[in-house]
Amino acid sequence: MDPLFCNIFYISLTYYLIKFIINIIYGLNMSDKNIIEIFEKTNALLNGHFLLTSGKHSNQYFQCAQVLQYPEYTEQICEDISEYFKDFEIDTVISPAIGGIVVGLEVARQLKKKFIFAERQDGKMTLRRGFKFEKGEKVLVCEDVVTTGGSVFEVIDLVKEAGAELVGVGIIVDRSNGKVKFGVPQTSTLQMEVITYEKDECPLCKQGLEAIKPGSRNIQA
Ligand SMILES: [Zn+2]
Repeated sequence: MDPLFCNIFYISLTYYLIKFIINIIYGLNMSDKNIIEIFEKTNALLNGHFLLTSGKHSNQYFQCAQVLQYPEYTEQICEDISEYFKDFEIDTVISPAIGGIVVGLEVARQLKKKFIFAERQDGKMTLRRGFKFEKGEKVLVCEDVVTTGGSVFEVIDLVKEAGAELVGVGIIVDRSNGKVKFGVPQTSTLQMEVITYEKDECPLCKQGLEAIKPGSRNIQA
C-alpha cells in the first residue's frame, strides 16, 4: 500500500478515535451543562428557597416559559428533539396547550411537518378549531415539561381514539428523571429530578432562610 495513504489513514483513524472518546467522556455532560446555563441565564431555572404550590419547599424553581420567550434559545433546545426524530416517519406534531405549543411548533418547523394543538374544554383534553386526525396519521407529541405526564397521556388518548398512530414523545424537561414512560420512543432535552421537602424537614428552613413563593416579586436567581 502507498505509504502516504497509510499515514493519512492512520492519522484520520486516530483523530476519529480521539474525537469519539472525548464525545463519550464530555459530550453528554457538556450539552446538559449548556442547556442548564441557558435555563439559568433566562431565569427559567431559579436557585434559592421556594414555597411550591403543593405546599412543599424546594431549592429550585423551574418555569419553562421563561426560556421560551427567546426564539433563538427555543430553536436551540428543541434541536435535540428534532434530531432524535429526524428519521422517523411523521405527519403531524401535536402539543397540549398552552406550555407545549411553543415547543411543538418549533419541532414541527425544524422537521417541516404540520403542527396542531389540543386544549382543555370543561377540563377534558380536546381537539378544537377544526383540528382532526386521519386514520393511520403518524403523530409526534411534544411537551415543554413532564412531571407525571398527565397532559401528554391525555393527548395520546386523543391520537389513539382517532385511529392515528403515535410515533413518539419529545419533551424539553423531564422532571420525572426518566420515570414516566409513554410506551413509544421518547426523548427529553434535559432530565431533572425535583427535590422537594416537607416544610418541617426543609434543610433551608433549618438554616433560617425565608421561603419565597415563585411568581412573587423580587425573586433572586
Ligand atoms: Zn424551606
